[in-house]
Amino acid sequence: MIDTTDLTVEQLADAWRNVHSTSPADEADPLVMDCARRLAADPGGEQAHVWVYGLVGMSGYLAWRPGRAAELAALDALRAAAKELGGRPCSHDDHPYEAEMDAMEDEVWLGDNGLLTGELAAGEGEPAPDAARVLCPGNVAGWARLVADVMAPLTVRRVPVGAPVYHQSCIQTLSGIVNDYPYCDPHEVLTDEAADLPSRPTRGVLAGYLVTMNATCWYAASERITDRSVLDAMIEGVRGALPLLRDDECAHDSGDHPDTGDADYLNQVGYFLRSPGGRAEIAEYYGWDDEDEEYAEGDAEEEALDAWVCPEFLRGLAEQTLSTLTEALESFETAQDDEPSEQTQSA
Ligand SMILES: [Zn+2]
Ligand SMILES: [Zn+2]
Repeated sequence: MIDTTDLTVEQLADAWRNVHSTSPADEADPLVMDCARRLAADPGGEQAHVWVYGLVGMSGYLAWRPGRAAELAALDALRAAAKELGGRPCSHDDHPYEAEMDAMEDEVWLGDNGLLTGELAAGEGEPAPDAARVLCPGNVAGWARLVADVMAPLTVRRVPVGAPVYHQSCIQTLSGIVNDYPYCDPHEVLTDEAADLPSRPTRGVLAGYLVTMNATCWYAASERITDRSVLDAMIEGVRGALPLLRDDECAHDSGDHPDTGDADYLNQVGYFLRSPGGRAEIAEYYGWDDEDEEYAEGDAEEEALDAWVCPEFLRGLAEQTLSTLTEALESFETAQDDEPSEQTQSA
């Protein structure tokens, strides 16, 4: 186990950079706990940006299977920092973290966000953001909110609305399919979608994947799909995703799970769930008020939006998807048995 007491910030930063979703808990948890403790001790302080940087750097680990105590400590510290720093006035119209939201692949940030030194590399053809904007409390609070929302999706307010451009184009392509006017080959699109789940997805990415599979399964199960490999790929994908759900208990009242009747809306949510900016779109749709509160957790007045990532809800949804797909597969097989001549021809 690493002893963090006498390490310099540079040495700590090296250790943080080596923490990934595959890191063993006995190595990663002490680093997370140490960093969270330092942030929680002074969440609005001079050094807060350093500790927020540390938790951003370890977000790949935090978003997958951190130890429970480390997870709670990190969440508490990030929320405290967002609250302390987020309300301070500044002269900036926007902050560098907003531009970075589009580049968070599978919503885990792997690059240098500048929070440690104040220096952030310029995007192509853009001037580098100045240190004052990078280290501005508004920017540090923004990063704290993003990581908290990746760890506990749909519980954090004041995340800027807007899914990454790539996700918006996925929604468009799939909306052609769920609305029955595909403009790309649905066989190809659905097969690619089915294979699109990372091996250690964040809660939002996993939920989004299962929602997308459900939104598109009616189409895959219809006679519009003429190649059974599409059904095979989707069944394999959903079966592979199920064991990745956490075994947290459902904290919702009966009837509080989302309504999944509208495939077009479900398709949008499927991709909105996969990023902080996309989830902010969902929250906006449900009418979250951005101004007064930092978090929605425990707010009985509003719909429980985090039900979209509830393991029990998602397990039920996945089972529904699987039964639709396996039924279609069976009738596919029966049809082939009934028409031996066609089978011989196609073989
Ligand atoms: Zn600012
Ligand atoms: Zn639930």
